Amino acid sequence: MGPPGAGKGTQAARITRFCGIPHISTGDIFRAAIREGTELGREAKKYLDAGQLVPDQITIEIIRERLKQQDCARGFLLDGFPRTLPQAEALDRLLADLGSNLDLVLNVAVRPEILLERLTGRRICRSCGATYHVVFQPLQLSGICDRCGGELYQRSDDTAETVEDRLKVYTNQTASLLEHYRRRGLLKEVNGEQEIDAVWMEIQRCLRSLC
Ligand code: ADP
Ligand code: AMP
Repeated sequence: MGPPGAGKGTQAARITRFCGIPHISTGDIFRAAIREGTELGREAKKYLDAGQLVPDQITIEIIRERLKQQDCARGFLLDGFPRTLPQAEALDRLLADLGSNLDLVLNVAVRPEILLERLTGRRICRSCGATYHVVFQPLQLSGICDRCGGELYQRSDDTAETVEDRLKVYTNQTASLLEHYRRRGLLKEVNGEQEIDAVWMEIQRCLRSLC
């Protein structure tokens, strides 16, 4: 959990390598569908472009199908899901049906005033999906991915205008979920305003009993 730009994807890449589990990002799933021009992609694009949430029914169905896949049998990391109370309740039901449950909910906490610069400076590799930042996580060689040499791009919703809408959506529809998980004793807070490696150290401490 965490607002847009908190560093969820950056840390998720490390967690999934460390724990050997798949990284399931609903945002990545929607962007892939948009790239491929599928029916889901055409529907989702309207919402992503506007910085709004894709309807719960569509999003929940995607997660339902994804969690059934074999690679999730030994655990998985959700990134960007759930984002509404109906999604959280649906996730509880899905996990119960699968005879599974949530081990941990990590919240990467970052104050809103820091997020605009993080999001507008974000760059992503078209080939391997690695995330960079023009100031905070710069490239060794300009314009190409350090890991795979791929081309970098800027997400079309990482503009100042859309970021403002996304942050409002987070405050109005997602932030209250933290209480849902805090009450159940599942939530651990991580200070996302530190350097990337320091955030990772804090997360590793939270994972100690799990992986
Ligand atoms: P989210 O998945 O939560 O939207 P990302 O992981 O994509 O966020 O991070 C948003 C941007 O901020 C990226 O450009 C990333 O390189 C950068 N970033 C991530 N964590 C930090 C951090 N701890 N300090 C500074 N910049 C960060
Ligand atoms: P993200 O990559 O997590 O920043 O998500 C990018 C966009 O995808 C969001 O602004 C939404 O439009 C959509 N999206 C991602 N996850 C969800 C979700 N759980 N529920 C609804 N919409 C989502």
